Amino acid sequence: MDFSLTSEQEMLQKMFREFATKEVAKVAEKADKEEALPPRLLKRAASQGFMGAVVPEEPYGGAGLDVVTFTLLLEALAAECASTALTIHVHNSLALRSIYRHGTDATKDALVPGMVAGERIGAFALTEPGAGSDPTHLRTTAVRQGDEYVLNGAKTWVSNGGIAGVFVVFAATDPAAGARGLSAFAVPAEAPGLTVGGREKTLGLNAASIHRIYLNDCRIPADYLLGAEGDGYKIALETLDFGRVGISAAAVGLARRVVELGVKFASERVQFGAPIGAKQAIQGYLADCVTEVAAAEGLVHRAAWLADQGQPFTQEASMAKLFAGRMAGNVTNKVLQVHGGCGYVMDYPIQRYYRDARALEIVEGTTQIQQIVIAGGLFAGTNVKVRP
Ligand SMILES: Cc1cc2nc3c(=O)[nH]c(=O)nc-3n(C[C@H](O)[C@H](O)[C@H](O)COP(=O)(O)OP(=O)(O)OC[C@H]3O[C@@H](n4cnc5c(N)ncnc54)[C@H](O)[C@@H]3O)c2cc1C
Repeated sequence: MDFSLTSEQEMLQKMFREFATKEVAKVAEKADKEEALPPRLLKRAASQGFMGAVVPEEPYGGAGLDVVTFTLLLEALAAECASTALTIHVHNSLALRSIYRHGTDATKDALVPGMVAGERIGAFALTEPGAGSDPTHLRTTAVRQGDEYVLNGAKTWVSNGGIAGVFVVFAATDPAAGARGLSAFAVPAEAPGLTVGGREKTLGLNAASIHRIYLNDCRIPADYLLGAEGDGYKIALETLDFGRVGISAAAVGLARRVVELGVKFASERVQFGAPIGAKQAIQGYLADCVTEVAAAEGLVHRAAWLADQGQPFTQEASMAKLFAGRMAGNVTNKVLQVHGGCGYVMDYPIQRYYRDARALEIVEGTTQIQQIVIAGGLFAGTNVKVRP
């Protein structure tokens, strides 16, 4: 058994951390207040290859990162700004990867180069006002008319929605067929009939561009169907498996930084004549936190490693997401407590991490949905049918 990173992974991790320190840290607070990332940041990310992280170098100029290395990128970004990590994660894991794996050559030629260059940011539009954990009951429809599809419906919680150049949209091509009637489409932002609604007012992840989108007789070339008609549910599940590894990595990066903030504060804040870090209660809190981070990191890297080996990783991705999402909530809560009143004012960064972390138990399948996936594996082969 070998837990070490390769020398190339170590080199890239150093590069990711330098980028995060130099480019992301300085904009994080302002972006949180202004509810937007500076566009220059994503251009800089593209120049480093981060907007094409998950596709190979040939033929579209991607960075071709293996999955473990991609998790190192998200960990590094989330340590400074979870909104930045979410933006780059959604673009790569949910949008670019889906189009690259399931698009026709013509679709990929049309969309992937701009995505890799960071000129066309990707978004993923599965959730609807009436269909969250259960996408099989989504109501957006897609009807084939000649050499086009016509889409109608509304999507909510679309991360990158306000800055996207292309949306991966899930719609029913056969509404009576439930999951088997869902299909996935690449919908360019300029497609007629697509409009973007206002930004969702969120508790955290303020700089992530989370919007509703509306499709009113939205026409796209029939070629922009991803996979075949009826493949949509399979594509969504496969994409979310991958996405869960990415969100878990962001949770690890965020929480690791939060422990550092806790140690710093506890070393500086003096009460009863000594730094509060000298108190065993505070040490215990922080020891628990760093242990939880390490455990989550192990789950994340194991799921990523399995993905790199081409082995099934659905269960491991859900375990990582279940544990890391909760862990980020626990750790930020405990470290906020270590800050005392200073944790509850907006002057210290811990409040941003606390607000951002809370989303990680919800996005890309709630904790309860991860439990169902994991239980499905546990009871496989028994007479118990695990159903949501
Ligand atoms: C910050 C953020 C970003 C997001 N980005 C995107 C995005 O880019 N694209 C996208 O498509 N979606 C996105 N989402 C939506 C996200 O995937 C959904 O919020 C999530 O899947 C839950 O759906 P819901 O909010 O409708 O909750 P519901 O499905 O209504 O669930 C409400 C509660 O019921 C529980 N529950 C539901 N079913 C069961 C069950 N069978 N057993 C036990 N408990 C159950 C849930 O766990 C939850 O606690 C985002 C969400 C957030 C918060």
